[in-house]
Amino acid sequence: MTTSDRDLDLDAVVVGSGPNGLVAAVTLAEAGWKVAVFEGQQTPGGALRSHESLLPGFVFDSGASNHPMAMASPAFRELGLEREGLRFAQTDVPLGHPIAPGRSALLRRDVAETAAGFGRDAALWRGVMGRFAGRWRQVGRAIGDPLHPTPDLIALGATSVWPTPWILRALRDERSRALLSGLAAHSIVDLRQPATALVGVALGAFAHGVGWPVAVGGSQSIADALVARLESLGGAVVTGERVTDVEALPHARAVILDTSPREALRIAGHRFPARYANALHRMRYGAGVYKMEWALDAPVPWADEGLADAGFIHLGGTAEQVIAAERDVARGRLPDEPFLLLSQASRMDPSRAPEGKVAFSGYAHVPFGYDGDISESIEARIEAFAPGFRERVLARRSWDPAALEAYNPNLVGGAIDGGLSSLPQLLARPRLSLTPWATPDPQVFLASASTLPGPGVHGMPGRLAARTVLARLG
Ligand SMILES: Cc1cc2nc3c(=O)[nH]c(=O)nc-3n(C[C@H](O)[C@H](O)[C@H](O)COP(=O)(O)OP(=O)(O)OC[C@H]3O[C@@H](n4cnc5c(N)ncnc54)[C@H](O)[C@@H]3O)c2cc1C
Repeated sequence: MTTSDRDLDLDAVVVGSGPNGLVAAVTLAEAGWKVAVFEGQQTPGGALRSHESLLPGFVFDSGASNHPMAMASPAFRELGLEREGLRFAQTDVPLGHPIAPGRSALLRRDVAETAAGFGRDAALWRGVMGRFAGRWRQVGRAIGDPLHPTPDLIALGATSVWPTPWILRALRDERSRALLSGLAAHSIVDLRQPATALVGVALGAFAHGVGWPVAVGGSQSIADALVARLESLGGAVVTGERVTDVEALPHARAVILDTSPREALRIAGHRFPARYANALHRMRYGAGVYKMEWALDAPVPWADEGLADAGFIHLGGTAEQVIAAERDVARGRLPDEPFLLLSQASRMDPSRAPEGKVAFSGYAHVPFGYDGDISESIEARIEAFAPGFRERVLARRSWDPAALEAYNPNLVGGAIDGGLSSLPQLLARPRLSLTPWATPDPQVFLASASTLPGPGVHGMPGRLAARTVLARLG
């Protein structure tokens, strides 16, 4: 099957096989639709792909690595992908946050144990995180479908829709402050903006509630499970087929684009009225990321040995340092000490590295489209917190924003969020609408992270786009 087979008798064509494209395809196939997914790259999965090309036996996630959102997402839970063999693995310490060499904050699965490390902030951490962690299913549902607000979404919003520094005023302990600011920095928005703290509280609550697991064998396993489910329902994924024009696709009732707004314009822009095309055109992308992968001879020699057990590490220093770094990035300036998000994936899933060796990876937030090489400074920063780190490196690879975008056109300028997740752009994504997955063209729909509810591996844009298709055309 190729994109030029015009008479395939399909009900829907999905362009792009990221988690959202695949969830949309499976949802339509479950409803009895005949679906084909066309993917430009040679392997399906989008930012879920993994590779073993650095050194034999070392598996790295090319994009997403930690999966609290997949665990808490109604779309993924309803699909029950464990039936396709998907498994997750994690440690009891989802997250470590070094503040200074030898001094760190640890987020443990257990809320009370974590809070016990936060001195005067213990009761507040237990109260707020405990409340939302205990209701992680409801919180996942609330965030996943924000156009149908639930009491949990309202409670989460009322607690944390504020800019992060406002929330930090309530915290006194440097460990809880650093941890929360690092969690909030996953928004990849200047932390002085509203709703950034909400990201921090939600991710913290998920870390306590479901953990921050990795997919056993690599995130690719999630994509593979989705593809297996789709194929079992009669659907197909065709790789190596970059779509450039909606008119050249096989005939189908619906075309669902799991693409960036920029690519959507390229593919179907001539079908959109100027107002909608302008909304896509105006969409702002977030900061970029600069990614590194290391095959290590032995575990990272953290000065603070407590970090050895952490699944993920936020190397960001104090709350003030995290806020300053994210502010610089938002202003288009490379921070002196960029915020680093590191994954000790093989600590959670030993199948990712040969025995005794370690697959270690991570990324820094950098300005959109940044084109410099910061590999040296990233390693120097890790070395400062883990003396002897460099001696353990067997092989390394760097991905700057341009390399990431070449690998996946949705990562415009190296931005991994499908569009800046500022509060206005989270509400109007890609425009203010009760059905943001529909376009003015009755045949064309948008399903990527550039629509509500936004970035992350949770499949909800795909699920909601497919439901919109079924409601309108089914
Ligand atoms: C480095 C990195 C780290 C991340 N870390 C995490 C994390 O730890 N946890 C988390 O939850 N999220 C994380 N994310 C974000 C998450 O991966 C994305 O939000 C999610 O993958 C978005 O899914 P999507 O289906 O919208 O798009 P994508 O996953 O980007 O997939 C889009 C697919 O469409 C294809 N495509 C685009 N245009 C065309 C075309 N014209 N023709 C054919 N195919 C096309 C692309 O090749 C790609 O395969 C990370 C992302 C990156 C890049």
